Amino acid sequence: MAGDHFYCLDPAGELAPAGGYEREGVTGFVFTAPAPGTTPLYRWWHPMVGDHFYCTDPAGELAPVSGYVFEGIACHIHTGQAPNTVPLFRWYNPGNGDHFYCTDPAGELAPASGYVSEGITGYLYLVPQPQTSPLHRWFQSGLMSNFTYDSDITAAQRLRLQERHTWAWFQGKACGALTAQQLADLRQAYQKAIRHSVSTDATANASATVNGSRIWVNFTNLFPLGGDEISQTLIHEMMHCAGYSHPARRDPPSPNPDTPGDNGPYYGTAPLQAELCIAGQQSDAATLRLMLAPHAWQRRACPVVELPRDLREFTKGMRRPK
Ligand SMILES: [Zn+2]
Repeated sequence: MAGDHFYCLDPAGELAPAGGYEREGVTGFVFTAPAPGTTPLYRWWHPMVGDHFYCTDPAGELAPVSGYVFEGIACHIHTGQAPNTVPLFRWYNPGNGDHFYCTDPAGELAPASGYVSEGITGYLYLVPQPQTSPLHRWFQSGLMSNFTYDSDITAAQRLRLQERHTWAWFQGKACGALTAQQLADLRQAYQKAIRHSVSTDATANASATVNGSRIWVNFTNLFPLGGDEISQTLIHEMMHCAGYSHPARRDPPSPNPDTPGDNGPYYGTAPLQAELCIAGQQSDAATLRLMLAPHAWQRRACPVVELPRDLREFTKGMRRPK
């Protein structure tokens, strides 16, 4: 059931990205091991309801008799309000069975969404402390749940792509570089049935069709470039799927080469602006090195196809009116 909130120490969200979960940031900072004044926060999962439940009761309150399965210790949190800690509030939605946890005393949007308060679970920090780690929050919004992956993409590659997609959207939605309309279009693209395929085109890291529903990924080129570059590339291609295009990049020896950050006819377009959301830059150091490569094919510009594939097929047979 959609609507589950999930919390974990793994920055990659364990299997959350594969399950249609959307990143919602960091709830607070918690201990990864027992510390003075703390207690384990236990994690439970209800496979039928699709709900993650967290509590400090070793017996799990009513979880075992309600069909929840024990999943271990999520982290360690204070049982009382230690200096600099804030309460972690627990909410429950009887409508969809979801348990939700947050540090906002007003419960963010929970009360307006049918959640009822269930008190304080424990206490955690809003800023990092020694021996603490971020507790990451995820929400099963169903985003990306229509994505497909060709069978020659390995399970590990698929999980990496999914996780990097969730990071791209999480960064994108909080980013000032995109307009409200561009963000709305991007979100819509994340809900499309985007097919992921393997590309062996040595000149590209990835490619997509404007307004299309398919992303080709050259795993050999892209994955060694690292997490930021993968998310930068994915959000760029997703902007193409959302309907945004850009002209061909003008590289040296062109008299007016396009330069990252110039906000010009290439770097000023939505797909390139979206890249800024990931790590504040367009085309990271690895790509800049490639741009200095002697051969054009080594520079890996985005080979954007301007027209929807269907339209190209359609117009191929058409004769121009005289
Ligand atoms: Zn492009």
